[in-house]
Amino acid sequence: MINGEKNIRYPIRWAMVGGGRGSQIGYIHRSSALRDHNFQLVAGAFDINPERGQEFGVNVHVNPERCYPDYKTMFAEESKREDGIQAVTIATPNSTHYEICKAALDACLHVVCEKPLCFTTEQAKELETIAKKKNRVVGIAYGYSGHQAVEQARRMIANGDLGEIRMIHMQFAHGFHSEAVEQENPSAKWRVDPEIVGPSYVLGDLGTHTLYLSEVMAPKLKIKKLMCTRQSFVKSRAPLEDNAYTIMEYDNGAIGTLWCSAVNAGSMHGQKIRVVGSKASIEWWDEQPNQLRYEIQGKPAQILERGMGYLYPEAVADDRIGAGHAEGLFESWSNLYRRFAMAMEALDCGETWNDIWFPGIEAGVEGVRWIENCVRSADNGGVWVEYR
Ligand code: NAD
Repeated sequence: MINGEKNIRYPIRWAMVGGGRGSQIGYIHRSSALRDHNFQLVAGAFDINPERGQEFGVNVHVNPERCYPDYKTMFAEESKREDGIQAVTIATPNSTHYEICKAALDACLHVVCEKPLCFTTEQAKELETIAKKKNRVVGIAYGYSGHQAVEQARRMIANGDLGEIRMIHMQFAHGFHSEAVEQENPSAKWRVDPEIVGPSYVLGDLGTHTLYLSEVMAPKLKIKKLMCTRQSFVKSRAPLEDNAYTIMEYDNGAIGTLWCSAVNAGSMHGQKIRVVGSKASIEWWDEQPNQLRYEIQGKPAQILERGMGYLYPEAVADDRIGAGHAEGLFESWSNLYRRFAMAMEALDCGETWNDIWFPGIEAGVEGVRWIENCVRSADNGGVWVEYR
């Protein structure tokens, strides 16, 4: 059980790039990083607008001298301080991830980066090489993967509870962008601009999350080939898609499907994953994250509840409160930030970690690679492409 007692020697001096006032995702990064006292927010370049970023930083109790106008100034100034930052979170729009991540690694900082990591597999591999050379952690904000039901699913599959895995059905299909909301909403606007969002909209924005859940649950499955079709139902978004279907063939003969959409009218989040084995299936839905549905062929379906003694020990290790109380997305993210901190400290002390997993740079590379393959398939008429 996690109760807030320290699990690393000293809190990590931490900064943010982006995530300022009005951003969608800044607050959950801060809340989750600071939750277990593993990180201290000591600096930031929080906003594209330096004045607003300065004001915001002061309002979240950062020393005004350490609220910087941009990330370059921050990395340069902090490197001169004895108590300079050790880690940075990048929570800016997609087009900036590559350059900021590279600069952070060059400055020998640990990184937590928003998804997608960058635009091309080549860039992603380059970042991976630099991170390895510099011995730095790059955590990726696949925030749903810290839910305990996801850990339970991983253990059940590893233990053979489902039998041989045959199918994985994934979807992340919300309805919030069923109309051209980007005309009024700045956070939506950049998401449909290829210069800023990259080669895809929903494949990168949504699909990579659920893809990563499948990688966590069934790490042995490797994609052999895929086919993808993508549509722009709001025409002004073309060539970027607001809906896409992908079919994946894995190298063991299993098959996967992933539907991602921002135009699934009426749906809230609609992120679900169903793993079907030869004996049984499991299903998880991010709108009911404390529950995992378990269906054994020929028996009544069961709902496994978070925190209960019948779960695998690894799936209750991250409990922050007993069963019956709802834990949610903030706890899921906090679990990941806790593991990021443990990994960062381990590398700083010349150690490795064996007993924790988290979305690291490989997961970032894989997400970018998947987007690239989907786009290649879709833009060639929805054909099967060998996964490369
Ligand atoms: P947003 O447009 O709501 O906010 C972006 C923030 O970054 C703003 O504060 C802006 O001022 C700041 N910013 C932009 N460029 C900057 C720069 N060069 N330097 C410093 N600050 C800068 O965007 P958002 O929705 O919060 O998305 C940010 C990132 O987070 C994106 O990559 C997005 O894909 C990702 N995201 C991830 C999740 C998740 O569940 N992991 C959810 C939402 C968004």
